[in-house]
Formats: sequence, structure tokens, C-alpha cells
Amino acid sequence: MSSLCSIQFVGKGWKVVSFFVVIAITWLATVLPVQAQGADEELVRIWPTNNTTLLVEQRFDLRVESLIPGQSAPTLESITINGNNFTGTFRQRINEQLQLPGGSIEVGQPPEGSNLFGQTLRNWSLSQPGRYEVVATLNIDGRQVSARNTYRVQPFQRRGNLNKIIFFVGDGMGTPLRTGARIMKYGVRDGQPGGYLEIEKMPVLGLVNTHSLDSIIPDSANTAAAWVSGAKTINNALNAFPDNTPETNFDNPRIETLPQYMKRRYNWGIGMVTTAFLTDATPASFAANQVQRGEFEWIAQQYFDFFRDGWYVPETGYRSLKELSQPVDVLLGPGARHFVPDENRAAEFRDTVFRRDNQDLIAVARQQGYTIVTDVNSMNQAPNDRPLLGLFLGDFRESAALGPQNIPSVLDLLIARGRATIDGRGANQLTPPVPSEFATIPKLEEMTRKAIAALEAQSPQGWMLQVESSQVDKLAHPLDPDRTLYEVLTLDKAVEVTRQFVAENPNSLMLVTADHAQGQTVGGTVDSQAIRENRIDLNEAMQSFGNAGFTTYQDTDNDGYPNEANPSTKLAIGISARPTFRTDFLTDDVNLPPSGEDGTEPNPERDPNGLLLTNDLQRQTTVANHTADDVPIAAQGPGAGLFNGVMDNIEVFQRMAAVISGVRNRQDLATGRPFTATETES
Ligand SMILES: [Zn+2]
Repeated sequence: MSSLCSIQFVGKGWKVVSFFVVIAITWLATVLPVQAQGADEELVRIWPTNNTTLLVEQRFDLRVESLIPGQSAPTLESITINGNNFTGTFRQRINEQLQLPGGSIEVGQPPEGSNLFGQTLRNWSLSQPGRYEVVATLNIDGRQVSARNTYRVQPFQRRGNLNKIIFFVGDGMGTPLRTGARIMKYGVRDGQPGGYLEIEKMPVLGLVNTHSLDSIIPDSANTAAAWVSGAKTINNALNAFPDNTPETNFDNPRIETLPQYMKRRYNWGIGMVTTAFLTDATPASFAANQVQRGEFEWIAQQYFDFFRDGWYVPETGYRSLKELSQPVDVLLGPGARHFVPDENRAAEFRDTVFRRDNQDLIAVARQQGYTIVTDVNSMNQAPNDRPLLGLFLGDFRESAALGPQNIPSVLDLLIARGRATIDGRGANQLTPPVPSEFATIPKLEEMTRKAIAALEAQSPQGWMLQVESSQVDKLAHPLDPDRTLYEVLTLDKAVEVTRQFVAENPNSLMLVTADHAQGQTVGGTVDSQAIRENRIDLNEAMQSFGNAGFTTYQDTDNDGYPNEANPSTKLAIGISARPTFRTDFLTDDVNLPPSGEDGTEPNPERDPNGLLLTNDLQRQTTVANHTADDVPIAAQGPGAGLFNGVMDNIEVFQRMAAVISGVRNRQDLATGRPFTATETES
């Protein structure tokens, strides 16, 4: 990795001398061309996002771009940082990047003749803490137009002995789902919870805001990017920002993630465990820098820091991406489709999708020394001291809403192992039957245990692991609240494994949070027996208020999951932000899509005699959607107290970095709440 220069002025610790803005914007008295009218912020912008907190030496791409075509191509007039002229350095670096093979891609230049300006200084960083104001001025058709962004650079040093962070995500896991899962597992006795989830036993609890750069309702990409790189970005973006060349998703400005930063500077290991395909947004957030989460082939290549011409992401034009990339040491999840070259190899994973460049990334992984495992036994037997790639089967049943790229619901894994039933029926009595191969798929807690052991063996100097229970969200979207609650329980089992590890390894911090919420709430209960036997009008089925009483879930084999999904009295979950669907309140044999092509029409295959619940979402939305609710964050380990209170999701990044830097008390945090350019820190 090349070492890039950094700006050396301004700022002493947290104290920053006040500064003066030295750029005077000259407004020309001439009549402006039509294209260049409008407020300056609509004409020119700078990336990263205004008001981002960066770490000392954290790499980011500094991009200046115009947004509306001029009559001729705009030119760069100047860039200043805290009033100091940075124009020469910027120009020199851009010229160096342009000399590289594929230089215009490196620089992110708009196409010739577009009359847009766009230049990206790659992998820049700031070496001193403090507050920085960047002003960029373009000459657009003879008029000087400026943009101004402010950044805070947070100090960072390795202090204290904390060297492991385990970051849990219940995707879409809002607070009501924790409550619902707890009732399912422990019931209520004497008016009190019969027990508490492992998540709830963690000593610190905070609330996280989840908005994105372009909406109050986020997706799983920008939220994860907020924790791992500290920057707000748009929905669907992973540690990268939109730009004025939307015709390609490959040249966008990027920002380094905390795992990439820790691996580059301190050789920490990186691990990811998920029940969604490995290239999905939440796992990808740790190690991918891509504005469009759907570029799965790109993301898979970046996991191995592997770029070669002829591949989906070639080497030519992407030297800066290669400099940023860090290989992931432990990957456990489904989604072989983004690693295999053809339909024969895809068929081994009961899938039909494969890489669009027909390249074999599994072979590359093997060449790089990875052990490849495909089921729970081979996973458990794999050596811990070598990089590990686990690619497991998904829910390949034709009718399943999850699909072959996602590990089946843990309820279905339990049924396959003979540990759970639906209405007393086991694997072969359901329609369709639960395939016996599902018993070979590891559960989240099993993957978590293996990932921790492997990272410990490979990277005793330190590591970061992300564990995602993704099907909380993926089963909430198609409105399967029972399976959704089982996914919270599987997350809790993985948390249990990790709490034991953290208790024995006091240099470990664990966090459990969600990226965003879904619209479910615990509304009441229903009498399953009466519904099953058609003894009750579904309009009378849901018991609420004082009639809800108590549920009768049982875990007789003590594996942490109810044995029966439809006990005599079961939870009834209400859902907002939904399409039209039908429900009989009972767990279906397989999870089916809730509506058809049109979100105002229920799927006729699903509970055809069920209660009709009509949509509140627009008709083109055919699944339930995310909400803007704050989500809980639980913490345990050194510095856990920093995660108390209400924080924005980018502050989770700032606080993790502070914990690694030895900060243990909130009084010492001094992160500054969302700050403004005029505010002076003291
Ligand atoms: Zn979602």
C-alpha cells in the first residue's frame, strides 16, 4: 500500500484555533447562462458528506463536482482547506492519477463533451485532529461558484488493551421484536417477564437514529456504512457517495471502513457471518466501497482484494480501489451465486444464478489459502488458523420467498433437525416438505462460534467480526412475523455464545443493534386451536387489551427455541407500512410472497380464506417496508458505557473508534453533537 501525504496544519488535540474563511466569492454581474442559474449548493458539491467526522489517517476520496452542465466545460478555480491554498496539491495528485492506466476512471471524470466538472482525489487523509473547512470554487461559464464542507477529524491512537469488537446486527430488528421474542421464549409470570433475552441482559442500552442522506427511511446499506465508515450516504450506498457520472457505479467517491482501517494500520482480522447472501448490504458494509449495493460481483471480488482485467471489476482504472481494499479473513454465509462461474457450479448450491463474468472466485479463494466449507460439519472441522470461506445452501424450495441465496428461516432449520413443528407436523408432513439437506446448514450461533475461534487463531493481535441475523428483515418484508421472531431468537443464541466469550476475554467489546426497524408491533394473541378448527370468525380472532391473556409457547428440549410455532395461544403481530395481504394468524408451512404484482391485491395462494388486511403503502410496493423508528443498541465490555443514551448511527462509528483509542467514560468522549461550521469546539 502506498503511503499518501496528509495535511499537516490546524488543530491541537480537540482544541482548534478559530479560522477565517478567506475565499471571497465573486459574483459576476453578467447575465448567467440558463444552465448555471440556481443556488450554489445545487451547482457544485464536495464529497465526503458535509459534517462527517473522520478519523486521523482514515482514507477518503475528496471529490469536487458540478451538477448541471455548463455551456462549456467548467474548470477548477481553487480549493482551500481552512483558508490555505490546496489547489496545487490537488491538481498535481489528479495529474498523477491521470497518468495511471485507466486514469480517467481513477479520477472519476465525466465523459468528454458532457460539460460537467468532476475530479476525485483518491485515498486522501488528514493526519491531525481538528476541524476542517474545505471550499472548492469552480469557474462555470465565467462565473465563480463555490461549495463549502466542514469536517471534524477525531483523534485516534491504540491505547488500552481492547483488541476485539463483535458487532451484531438484527436486520430490521426494532424494539417490538425484542419484546415479542422475549414473550415467545419466556412468557409472562406474575405480570413480569418470565426471563430476559441475552440481548436484554447486556449492561448498556442506547437508542440509535437511522436516517439516510436522502430519506428519513433508510435501507440496510447506508445504515451499515454509517457505523463502519462514519459517513452519511444515500440509500443503497456502501461506504461510497453518489456522483455526477451516474452511468457507472464504479468510479464513485469512497471512504475507508473501520475494519479496513484497523487491518491496514494494525493488521487486525476481519470476519463476517450472515444468514443473507454474503454480498448483501450488511455484510458488505465491512469491506466493500460501492455506491450501489446491487453490484454483487464487485463486492465479492473486493472481499479477496482480487482485481484482474477480464473480471467484473478489472484492475485497470481501479488502483485506488485496490489500495483501499482489505481481504476478509472469515466469511460464513450463503450466496455462492456471486462466487461461482457457471450453472453447473451454481447447481451444487441448488441455485441457478452465477457470476456474470463467468469467473470462478472460489478457485481464487482457494489459491489465496482459504479453506472452503459448505456445511456445518465441514465448517466445524476446518482449521482455525487459515482464512475461511463458508458457502452454505439457501432456501431452495421453489415457492419460498427467501430464495436459494438466503439461509432458510431458523424455524425451518429446526424442523429439519427434528427440533420444532408447525401444528404438530414435522419436516415430511409440511407442504412443501422441509428438505433433509436443511439439517446440514449451520445455525447463526454455530457460525458465530466458529468465526470467533478462527479469528482468534489467525489474528491474536486483534479483529472485528460482524454477525448479522438478516432474516429478521428478510422475513418481515414478506410479512411472516412468526419466523421473524424466531430470527430474533437465533440472534440471541449467537449473542449468548459471544457473551460467554466476552466474559472470558475482557479485552472484547460486543455491540448488538439493528440497522432500521420494520413496522411490526405486538398487538395481542390468538387462539390457534379455534382458528385451525374453523371455530372462530377471523374478524373476532385477535384478542387485545385485557383479553389478550398470556401465550403458551414451550421449549421442552431447552434449545432456546419454542418447539411449536402455533401453540394454543400465540402472539398476533400488527404490521404497518405494508401491502395488501391475507392472514389467518397461523405460521404457514412455507413463507410465500404476501401480494401479487400489485400491492393492493393479496397473493391468492397465501391464506386464501384469511383476514384481508389492506395496504397503506403505494400499490407498486408488494412487501412490507422499513420504518424511521430509532433502534436499540446494547453494549458489553470495555467502553460499553459510551453507547448509552440517544445517538445518531454515525456516532456508533465515532464511539467504537474512541473505545479502541482508550476512551472509557462518556465524559471523555467529547464527540461533539452534530456540529456546524460556525461552532468552535473547546
Ligand atoms: Zn429490508
